[in-house]
Amino acid sequence: RGASAAANAVEVAEEANAETVARLRGMFSLPADRLQQIVKQILVDMKKGLEKDGAANIKMLPTHVTRRPSGKEKGTYLALDLGGTNFRVCEIILDGAGGSTMHQSKFVIDEAAKTGDGTALFDFIADCVKAFLGEYHKDQDVEAVKWKLGFTFSFPVDQWTINSGSLLIWTKGFTATNVVGKDVVALLKSAFERKNLNIDVTALVNDTTGTLMSLAYSKPDTYVGVILGTGSNCAYVEKIENVIKYKGPREGVKEMLINMEWGGFDDDMVVIPRNKYDLKLDRESANPGSYTFEQLISGMYLGEIVRLVLVDLVKTGELFSYSAGGSPELRTKYAFETAYMSRIERDYSYQLMETKTILEEHLNIPETTLADRKLVKAICEMVGLRSARLAAAGVAAVVTKINKLGAPGVTVGIDGSLFLLYPHYQNRMRDALREIVGISAENILLEKSQDGSGTGAALIACLAGK
Ligand code: BGC
Ligand code: MG
Repeated sequence: RGASAAANAVEVAEEANAETVARLRGMFSLPADRLQQIVKQILVDMKKGLEKDGAANIKMLPTHVTRRPSGKEKGTYLALDLGGTNFRVCEIILDGAGGSTMHQSKFVIDEAAKTGDGTALFDFIADCVKAFLGEYHKDQDVEAVKWKLGFTFSFPVDQWTINSGSLLIWTKGFTATNVVGKDVVALLKSAFERKNLNIDVTALVNDTTGTLMSLAYSKPDTYVGVILGTGSNCAYVEKIENVIKYKGPREGVKEMLINMEWGGFDDDMVVIPRNKYDLKLDRESANPGSYTFEQLISGMYLGEIVRLVLVDLVKTGELFSYSAGGSPELRTKYAFETAYMSRIERDYSYQLMETKTILEEHLNIPETTLADRKLVKAICEMVGLRSARLAAAGVAAVVTKINKLGAPGVTVGIDGSLFLLYPHYQNRMRDALREIVGISAENILLEKSQDGSGTGAALIACLAGK
């Protein structure tokens, strides 16, 4: 009797969960017709954004990169990568035959550097560069060499030239003061001067642009670069005559890479359904009302959406009923990492033991049932799936815009932890692409393009020097 009562209790719990799951599915799902509507709206915004600054939610920023690489670019360059979870300093050797070698150092940018005084942030960067050169060029008089550097600064920048431009708004939790509205290359140069570093910053680059360029170095049919990591964004190759707002020289220029800044898409919230968790996440973010598309897609935010759902379900008694109140960790903002979602989605053990470890050991929830864990896993799936489907809608829009749905097709270079590491992400994107554009999806090759921020920045620095 005892055993069957227990089995019965589990069934009851699972039935209750089925209702909860169905309700949440309704809040997070994006059927194909909705994705198609989203694609249409992205296309409208792309066109408007290319006509005039501020005309659309998508900024469509001209990058001043007017050529894709030929594969013959050659030379040694430094590159900086600021804007993800780590800050990196790299040295890249382009071999002139579509290949390259690189060494790099990673540095953790702490909260103080991200959110404190801008000068301190740039001083920190310069110190890292100095440490890097000290390590890899011990025998050289580092101050006597004139280094060439590509600065990958992965935030929305209104670029004036290939190596100057002002920060429009911070994203991804950065809030350092006295940087918005300033020329970030000038800020970097003054920091280098303060540290006696003789470095020529020859290119200012977005990570999406770098991602596109680095894959195009060996694969000339690459016309799109996408980041699905801490943040999310896309760059692509546009015909110069369509870049109506571009005021620079046009002579001899056929195309220009455009940094879309698609993170800002639908900030007026007209096409994508938002639920109460999305709205709460946005309200409590560093810049409410801005980059709300990115919040539905990128790694910085997915775990937090899941956490907000879990906290709510604890309140309604639908989750962790043996651990009323959950745990202080569960109630801590951003404590549920997107990396946990990856591990939970990869957990196929019968009792969901990996999920148990995360919930009970990392989040300190005293006791979870199998039904609890199944529910948590279902929530991770919904949030992860929606992200991949929205990313696919973005890619479908861009490939449509450049008329490459037909044969021979196009390569989309993609970098970032979600695309590279999150289970099922790539297949979910491919499935959604198929739902949106049908059989044409076979002409869209989603390909890993690792380390565009290094190699891509070096390529742009090299091309800029010609
Ligand atoms: C930034 C983009 C960047 C993307 C991926 C976004 O928050 O606005 O410039 O490309 O993150 O790093
Ligand atoms: Mg990155």
